[in-house]
Amino acid sequence: MRTLIRNGTVVNAGGALAADVLVDGETIAAVTAPGVFTEADRIIEADGKYVLPGGIDAHTHMEMPFGGTFSADTFETGTTAAAWGGTTTIIDFAVQAKGTSLLSTLDKWHEKADGNCAVDYGFHMIVSDVNDQSLKEMESCIAAGVNSFKMFMAYPGVFYATDGEILRAMNKATETGSMIMMHAENGIAIDELVAQAIASGRTDPVEHGLTRPPELEGEATSRAIQLAKVTGAPLYIVHLSARQALEAVAQARDTGQNVFAETCPQYLYLSIEDLAKPDFEGAKYVASPPLRTKDHQADLWRGLRTNDLSVVSTDHCPFCFKDQKQLGRGDFSKIPNGMPGVEHRMDLLHQGVVAGELTLARWVEVASATPARMFGLYGRKGVIAPGADADVVVYDPALRQTLSADTHHMNVDYSAYEGLSITGGVSTVLSRGSVVIADGQFHGKAGHGKFLARDLSQYLV
Ligand SMILES: [Zn+2]
Repeated sequence: MRTLIRNGTVVNAGGALAADVLVDGETIAAVTAPGVFTEADRIIEADGKYVLPGGIDAHTHMEMPFGGTFSADTFETGTTAAAWGGTTTIIDFAVQAKGTSLLSTLDKWHEKADGNCAVDYGFHMIVSDVNDQSLKEMESCIAAGVNSFKMFMAYPGVFYATDGEILRAMNKATETGSMIMMHAENGIAIDELVAQAIASGRTDPVEHGLTRPPELEGEATSRAIQLAKVTGAPLYIVHLSARQALEAVAQARDTGQNVFAETCPQYLYLSIEDLAKPDFEGAKYVASPPLRTKDHQADLWRGLRTNDLSVVSTDHCPFCFKDQKQLGRGDFSKIPNGMPGVEHRMDLLHQGVVAGELTLARWVEVASATPARMFGLYGRKGVIAPGADADVVVYDPALRQTLSADTHHMNVDYSAYEGLSITGGVSTVLSRGSVVIADGQFHGKAGHGKFLARDLSQYLV
């Protein structure tokens, strides 16, 4: 089966050019001057459209256990929604429960995802129990294509790791060339602030933001960077939201340290004002780190331009407003943490292009090429080039759409961007050569998506 995508503008991280793309089977066979090939089994006209490597969302949580409930998207609904928005690869997190092994955790997550995904997927591993066995098992995870390990400086009693435990895992990362990913917020101090708020009767969702001040993200980020420096481990700060944290990352990068960071669309577009919405509405915006004051946003956009922020992921972790978020009515600390977003990342970043915050090439770089390189997928993913998987998005920059829970495909009853009108949208999406989205219809199927065993990071200094 040969597919010709013709007369579009191919956009890679290196720039844009007018070109045709010939897909043969599951891979890209050729990228040529327009008109070189004229025949194929299927022709997709891309006049006036961008032809992009499929988006890679390196941070999602499908069916994730949290506080007695599960995030609302399954691997099937979540990867289908991803496809609708032009994301053709997700990297999700397998979550080690305390007292269990990393390998049994990985098996469990394979079971959840296997046969259910509409697009390709990989895993990171959350290490919540650092001991001799799990440190040893990190090696087996790497052999199994899972070579990035997330740790938490937040959530004492749940995922929290002490500095000593972090140090031990970082030693193992240095030894194996794998990546430590860090949720950098000072959870010990935050828990104290939370207890103080509850004790004084401050229980609304906005308190979630007020008890997690940006200084405590900055402090934890700095501490993680110092621990990484002492051990020599590569470090990737997940969902960076605050200027204070960005400054620490920029400083480390200036010295040539292997320190990287991602941010998420919610930190670029939403703010603590959303968390302060009345009638418990703010619960829709509870995620950690919390949404910040608006003045952080310009710094994050600048960080994306200077590559102090290298990746934009979603931290997609949806909980329904109607039943799940209600668990925290009267006590903000019981609101399940997380927001939906996997479907809208490419579009929201395209708004950055429209607004002049990012170039076209930089859009593709932070949304596809760099996540591919960062997590050992580049060549197969993240680029429109011969030999790469034919994960291709034909993107219409002139399309107008209004984001809404009524029209989105994520399995969650609200949109964090309800009523937001945006420019641009997906027109056709191919996953390994198969059309999954075309003419406003989903043509994919659960089980098409394959597990990606990843190589070590291709992005280290
Ligand atoms: Zn997360």
